[in-house]
Amino acid sequence: MTRIAIVRRDRCSPQACGNYLCIRVCPVNKQGADCIVKGLDTKAQIIEETCIGCNICVVKCPFDAISIINLPEQLDNSPIHRFGTNKYALYSLPTPIFGKVVGIVGMNGIGKSTAIKILAGLLQPNLGETTAVDYKRIIDFFKGTETQAFFEKVKQDKIKISYKPQHVDLIPKTTSGKVIDLLKKVDEKNQTEKIAELLDIQSILQHDIKQISGGELQRVAIAACVLRRANLYVFDEPTSYLDINQRLQIARFIKDLANEDTAVIVIEHDLIALDYMADVVHIMYGKEGCYGIVSQPKAAKAGLNTYLEGFLKEENMRFRELPIKFEIKAPFSTARKQCLTSWNNFDKQLDKFKLSVNAGEIYKQEIIGILGQNGIGKTTFVKILAGIMEPDDAKIDLKMKVSYKPQYIENNSEELVINILHQAIAKYSNEIIKPLELEPLFTKQINQLSGGELQRVAIAECLARDATLFLLDEPSAYLDVEQRLSLSKIMRNLVETKAITLLVVDHDLLFLDYLSDRLLVFTGAPSFAGTSQGPFAMEQGMNTLLKEVNITLRRDEFSGRPRINKPGSQLDREQKQTGKYYYG
Ligand code: SF4
Repeated sequence: MTRIAIVRRDRCSPQACGNYLCIRVCPVNKQGADCIVKGLDTKAQIIEETCIGCNICVVKCPFDAISIINLPEQLDNSPIHRFGTNKYALYSLPTPIFGKVVGIVGMNGIGKSTAIKILAGLLQPNLGETTAVDYKRIIDFFKGTETQAFFEKVKQDKIKISYKPQHVDLIPKTTSGKVIDLLKKVDEKNQTEKIAELLDIQSILQHDIKQISGGELQRVAIAACVLRRANLYVFDEPTSYLDINQRLQIARFIKDLANEDTAVIVIEHDLIALDYMADVVHIMYGKEGCYGIVSQPKAAKAGLNTYLEGFLKEENMRFRELPIKFEIKAPFSTARKQCLTSWNNFDKQLDKFKLSVNAGEIYKQEIIGILGQNGIGKTTFVKILAGIMEPDDAKIDLKMKVSYKPQYIENNSEELVINILHQAIAKYSNEIIKPLELEPLFTKQINQLSGGELQRVAIAECLARDATLFLLDEPSAYLDVEQRLSLSKIMRNLVETKAITLLVVDHDLLFLDYLSDRLLVFTGAPSFAGTSQGPFAMEQGMNTLLKEVNITLRRDEFSGRPRINKPGSQLDREQKQTGKYYYG
């Protein structure tokens, strides 16, 4: 068995723990041999060859700075790259394939961007040694695989990569000017107008980059990526902030990019969108900040089912304790439920946009998913319920405490996470803090957090407030699949044990399908008019939305997960004819 030791430099503080506590407790050191020594940088250094894996140092370290990891026995290779002694290690790489879209699905923080940098030739790997090795050895390392041919091209400088970053919301912080000027600046193909039309962003070309919405920013970032001349295009979470229609439009666009001279890699956590666009999938697993392993490529359908199963048959490797199952739920019965609150019809005019809300009611202890296209009034509706905005023609007073998590979260504060989460830590240490893995973030400032970390902090803070009704706008953005499903379980547990009610706006249909009891659907013409319908039972709600966007869904026969039917396929036509857009 291969064992690696990770020492987090930022946490290890030998003076504060009473002079290398780990050295004093290590049984190998106690017997006079060297296992943990004082490193040149004054931090603890663990000699992996002599470590017996007893985990005593891990338990005793007061700063949670040490991880001892027994790697799977099946792992027959040394790492493709290691950042140094007792630092992160990456095992294997995804394989770009010309003419195909290769998807990567997996947890955040386990080395996807390191893998991409290696593929792009921006980081020369070291095969676990102290210095970078030459490409001849890397080519030998991958002998007989598709990756070998790819690295031969990297060596000959024949790979040019273009990358769409994950955090598009950071773009306006470092860039300014009109969208058209910014796109023209990166356009190496003279195709700005054509790509703008394909991505449906013509109407915002004259707008300032700082004035456009998250969904528009996402499409501008995708346009900027494809306007560069490259033969490997990498899209890191291309669907964040996009609605279901836009997700499919982007999925088709990305699919069309792949040809015999062009390879495409997509990192994506919306499994419905990934399923629709990827030909092949790699599963990436490991431990955040410690190591990452990339599975063999699998056909997309089988790969995503394997991911949900949590077990790689060929590698004989279980990477999650329990499978994720999509079971057909019994319809939500309102018979024995008590009404929590209700609202009458109301309208809200915002410039040219008019929101018309139909009367509705919410029951105690239920989760309502809110669905609809972008620009259709979902956020306005939620803000009105939260008391942040007022309707034009009525007064909404829910007569209860409401807690609201906005779609865009402020990240400029220097406040420490532990201070922001004091209420959550006191009330919900086991229910929220632990499952969202927030403890390691306590000593970070808000402005030092990644998008996913910030999202988890904002969710925890919102859910811990003293309130009866909780409104969460796009909580899945920047969360990986595991975190999305873990969040679903946290919410369900709170609804059942704390008698609260949740309204959740999101675009990830799989997440909402897993989470919701009923659905509130917004239909209409984006940016002009939106109307609320419902809340409905799941099947009726999904049917209403899917009919509006002209998409049908079926359930995968093995995992039960929702999958989009190919437009015009027999199943698509049949479901449309019978009005069963949802797989119900
Ligand atoms: Fe020493 Fe390894 Fe045990 Fe830590 S896990 S105390 S380094 S033998």
